[in-house]
Amino acid sequence: MSLRLYDTLTKEKRPFTPLDPKNVRMYVCGPTVYDFAHIGNARPVIVFDLLFRMLRYIYGPDQVTYVRNITDVDDKINDRAARDFPGLPLNDAIRAVTEKTADQFQTDVEALGCLPPTFQPRATDFVLPRADGKTDMVTLIQQLIARGHAYEAAGEVLFDTESMPEYGALSGRKLDEQQAGARVAVDAHKKHPTDFVLWKQSSAEEPGWESPWGRGRPGWHIECSAMAEAYLGQTFDIHGGGLDLIFPHHENEIAQSRCAHGTQAMANTWMHNGFLQVEGEKMSKSTGNFVTIRELLNDWPGEVLRLNMLKTHYRSPIDWTVKGLEESARTLDDWYWVAADSKGGHPANKVIDALSDDLNTPQMIAALHLLRNSAAAGDEKDRGKFAASLRMLGFLSESAAEWAARKQQGGGVDAAKIDSLIADRTDARANKDFKESDRIRDQLAAMGVTIKDSKEGTSWEIAR
Ligand SMILES: [Zn+2]
Repeated sequence: MSLRLYDTLTKEKRPFTPLDPKNVRMYVCGPTVYDFAHIGNARPVIVFDLLFRMLRYIYGPDQVTYVRNITDVDDKINDRAARDFPGLPLNDAIRAVTEKTADQFQTDVEALGCLPPTFQPRATDFVLPRADGKTDMVTLIQQLIARGHAYEAAGEVLFDTESMPEYGALSGRKLDEQQAGARVAVDAHKKHPTDFVLWKQSSAEEPGWESPWGRGRPGWHIECSAMAEAYLGQTFDIHGGGLDLIFPHHENEIAQSRCAHGTQAMANTWMHNGFLQVEGEKMSKSTGNFVTIRELLNDWPGEVLRLNMLKTHYRSPIDWTVKGLEESARTLDDWYWVAADSKGGHPANKVIDALSDDLNTPQMIAALHLLRNSAAAGDEKDRGKFAASLRMLGFLSESAAEWAARKQQGGGVDAAKIDSLIADRTDARANKDFKESDRIRDQLAAMGVTIKDSKEGTSWEIAR
């Protein structure tokens, strides 16, 4: 088993070799905290949690550093603060919005079975030079100016994209192509249309910090460059995020981080998860198919959402549907039952092998189904491997009984499911497959259902 990952920058899948196997380092762009996260936001969180778990499995749980930032300075936050807390001074209102939203996010992603990252820095703590000497945004910007990669214009500090010959390598965009289509008049103060903001002035009504360029606030991209370096150093192993972040965000992070120090790479592997659409359509607030994680968690256990996300390979687009969720729920009900709280055992090689191939989760799930069948047929060793694999992947956080009980409380009794199980059991008995009929009876019992056979057929009731 050797881990292979697809790198967006070199467009190839290659063996992953950490810079330091004693400290494998990964950065993933986190949420901008002004509103409930939607299910599209959950995709990178789940995908990179899976990679985090895999890296911990390979290199050891204490040998992996995973940083996911919280963006708590952003103009969308300012608007929300003014709207939701009109009575408070702006800074207090902003803090109220960002703290509430960050807490909601933590609760949501924990319910999705995600481990907490090693560090979750907040951007506002990394704007000004710090007492502990960790990298900050103002110092990074000063370094960029000193090395000739940034300039001041019209009250802003801008990154000079023409100063970096490799600018555009991640997204495959060429500077001269962009020049042709750009509306130059809007950005008259920029040397080149692709130059982007490192620092901008703040009005009295906007959050701001005193800097060498006056009272202002950082651009979005410099936040990640600073926080990644603060915890992971100038060059680290893996940088992740959604496909939509490749340009401009990650392109600009690379430009800043490399040019500030003259390094050859910000991260050695760039990983991006694909888009998510809902019921065949792009998610948008206007079409009414905008789904938050919180709304889904009201209707489904977090592990169902997690499995549903992992059924699709992370680089492929995913179509999020209720039909898919129902399937995932049925699969997990069955898995909980078959795993039967089995303890001990190690994750199965076939599961690890599938994940080692650029997180091939469809293959991983196929391997889990085979293990499930073997366990259901009575192979106790495979039952142990099955349960250990599921735990490693962030499932089986509850006992089988808790799972069954919670489903009853949550969604009421699924009478159709019970009737269909009873029909399966009747068929099994007719075929004299008593092992299977007993298994189904036990599965019903785990759901809190007791059955009674009589001449008229089988009746059932919920045991309370
Ligand atoms: Zn970022």
